[in-house]
Amino acid sequence: MNLFTETNLSPDILKAIGELGYESPTEIQKQTIPFILSDIRDLIALAQTGTGKTAAFSLPILDMIDDTSRKIQLLVLCPTRELCLQITKDIKNYSKYMKDIKTTAVYGGSSIMDQIRSLKDKPQIIVGTPGRVIDLINRKALDFSAIHWLVLDEADEMLSMGFKDELETILSETPETKQTFLFSATMSKEVERISKNYLTKPHRISVGSINEVKKNIKHEYYVIGYRQKKEALKRLIDSNPNQYSIIFCRTRMETQEVADFLMQNGYAADALHGDLSQAQRDTVMKKFRLKNIDILVATDVAARGLDVNSLTHVIHYSLPDDPEVFVHRSGRTGRAGKDGISIALIKPEESRKLKQIKSVTKIEMHEGKIPTGEDIIKAQVGGVFESLFEIHEDFFEFDDSLIPDLSAFTKEELAHKLLQFQLKDLALYYKDRHDLMDQKLSSRDDDGGSRRDRRDRDRDRGRDRDRDRGDRDRGGKPRRKNEDMVRFFFNLGKKDQLKKLDVLDIINKATSGKSKKRAEIGDIEILEKFSFFEVEKSFKDNVLSNIGSMKFKGKEMRAEVAN
Ligand code: AMP
Repeated sequence: MNLFTETNLSPDILKAIGELGYESPTEIQKQTIPFILSDIRDLIALAQTGTGKTAAFSLPILDMIDDTSRKIQLLVLCPTRELCLQITKDIKNYSKYMKDIKTTAVYGGSSIMDQIRSLKDKPQIIVGTPGRVIDLINRKALDFSAIHWLVLDEADEMLSMGFKDELETILSETPETKQTFLFSATMSKEVERISKNYLTKPHRISVGSINEVKKNIKHEYYVIGYRQKKEALKRLIDSNPNQYSIIFCRTRMETQEVADFLMQNGYAADALHGDLSQAQRDTVMKKFRLKNIDILVATDVAARGLDVNSLTHVIHYSLPDDPEVFVHRSGRTGRAGKDGISIALIKPEESRKLKQIKSVTKIEMHEGKIPTGEDIIKAQVGGVFESLFEIHEDFFEFDDSLIPDLSAFTKEELAHKLLQFQLKDLALYYKDRHDLMDQKLSSRDDDGGSRRDRRDRDRDRGRDRDRDRGDRDRGGKPRRKNEDMVRFFFNLGKKDQLKKLDVLDIINKATSGKSKKRAEIGDIEILEKFSFFEVEKSFKDNVLSNIGSMKFKGKEMRAEVAN
């Protein structure tokens, strides 16, 4: 089956997808369409976002749905409001010529009364987020007794977002006779458990391997200390002109911080994360889709459901814990046959994480050097010409008589002047800037970070912090404080063979609760008899209450907030 016209899909569907420009089915569609049209078994499909999953399940279902019945026949559950709206929009597009088919989206963060009202239209298809679906079941606004098909989209994400109970309730509220299709990018233990309990002898299909790595993406990484990270990011953006990219951060706080930094530096950037209201998130996504901004700084969760196919770069400002998330993130570029670039900024202490990502994903990554001002200007000149050659039409009427006499200049001189004019600000910014030296991984993993890190610290604070647990250095200057972090005094030090990686491990253990959120860790300073470390404020109580009950090499541990 190489063309949609070779499937048995109805002419109404073929016409609609033809108008969307779909000619051949994607890999997952090739496998699911014939299966769903002819089989009554449940299905587990392993596929990443962007593989054409929505059409893969909805086209064959639309083909079979009974448009004379006004009962709900298809329920699609998905993790986020954005994805819910995206799927609804896609299904509405696919059923454009099926006049009697109605699809309704129900999701949290929006008026439940409005949604109850729209259910009065008697849609045959409901696309919803689990929490809101449960609310509507409880209000008796949804009747699932006639459901034929239940789709769990991005099941792994729904489970990792804590929707386990909701999913189980919905699965047990729907008729046994339904056919269940579970789509997931990863086959986690939880997904496996749900499928065991609620799916009957499912047929399994998989598109490529779970860790499928796109070959058309070039992977680069740059090793840089915490203090120079934002400047390094700026340089990497400046040396990749004309980019349309997503920068991934680990926490909401970091996302906002990076976005603020870029905006203050004049970039068309904005932040997307869960602390923003729904309306703010919608506005940011719209601006990004319309390319009013060309850099989006986002958390992994918030970026889901954002469907853009033309990203030139994905930047990992912070590495994710899970190598599969790294593959996911990177796979947001290099779509639709285009090439893509993935850039990772690695803190020296993340050498192990990087090694793990490389070994699990088998991605070939090249270490790059943070560009110098000169590299950046060269790249920008290339970018200006690239943009010039892309212009093939006139956007406004132009009277040649407005051009003054240029005969005194050669064309090279003119190009020079235009480039100077265009790149003046950037050139002035980099004129007297030092190069950012990248740091070798091997110089770390021992006691106090790379030599450069130590040098930075010494310069910043004075060497005799051993004796000074306060917030002032030897010169009496207030130490630079990160308002979002708490600094702890820790009773073990070099004499206890404590290494930085041990401290990372201890903090991670002390702060890993039920929530999947990991604590942001700042500076770690290991001194002779004791140490200091910084942890994200919201994890302060976890550190205080848990470290006291843990031991390191048989020694009691104690952490208290530093003065
Ligand atoms: P999805 O994985 O469902 O989010 O789809 C990813 C993107 O691919 C969406 O923009 C779809 O509109 C598009 N798409 C899905 N199937 C096809 C197809 N067979 N041909 C071209 N584009 C498609």
